[in-house]
Amino acid sequence: MFGFGRGKRRRALLETPLPDAQRASLHRVAPLVTRLPAALAARHEGIVQVLLSEKRFEGAGGFTVTEDMRLAIAGQAALLQLRAGADYYPGLHSIVVYPEAFVVAHEQPDDDGLVHVDEDELSGESWQQGTVVLAWDDVRRESKKRDGYNVVLHEFAHQLDDQNGDADGTPFLRDREQIERWHAAFQAAFEEHKRRLKRRREVLFDEDAAESPAEFFATAVELFFEFPVELKREFGGVYDVLAAWLELDPAAGLG
Ligand SMILES: [Zn+2]
Repeated sequence: MFGFGRGKRRRALLETPLPDAQRASLHRVAPLVTRLPAALAARHEGIVQVLLSEKRFEGAGGFTVTEDMRLAIAGQAALLQLRAGADYYPGLHSIVVYPEAFVVAHEQPDDDGLVHVDEDELSGESWQQGTVVLAWDDVRRESKKRDGYNVVLHEFAHQLDDQNGDADGTPFLRDREQIERWHAAFQAAFEEHKRRLKRRREVLFDEDAAESPAEFFATAVELFFEFPVELKREFGGVYDVLAAWLELDPAAGLG
């Protein structure tokens, strides 16, 4: 909940363009952003200003978070918040940046109630407690390469999914009709992806996307921006519900 003062401050930030030097840096570190049409670019910069101002960027273990890092992360996270009524990740407080892939120990109880500790090397993680964790070398590489992988889009998509309580691949949506269209499109695509994997066909989504509806959704968001034409051709239903939700049509140019 925002007090009056914060709402006013936010409105002012939304109308503040980035200084030229920062805009140039943003376009260099997050080239996806340069594909936005002029009409959306101004709104996008305002959202970047809000994220830079409202979220805390922290380096892990003494790592220094530079302006380029903040711009690369905020610039791409803002692409998911261009729709009318977006609230700019209200539950998210901090973004923790590691220099490179980090090891996370997950405690997993098994069926007998014994706890196993799995160690995973990760390039990003989204926590329900309002934190996104990212490895800078992966962010930097994936922001510049069009290869279907984009750890910033992936983790911020998880953050939006987590916002309504459970990570089930369905973020807050406008109304019942949108929810029904979403479920129908995503369930069909998730099953189709698993079938394709089983038949060892060449797949657009990777194997990790078959892990759960939440992973499938976060991967779909990456593909929506990185391979929009391919996503629209192979999983048109998913493309359409994402386009309606994000109010973007990247297959026709980001606009
Ligand atoms: Zn994930």
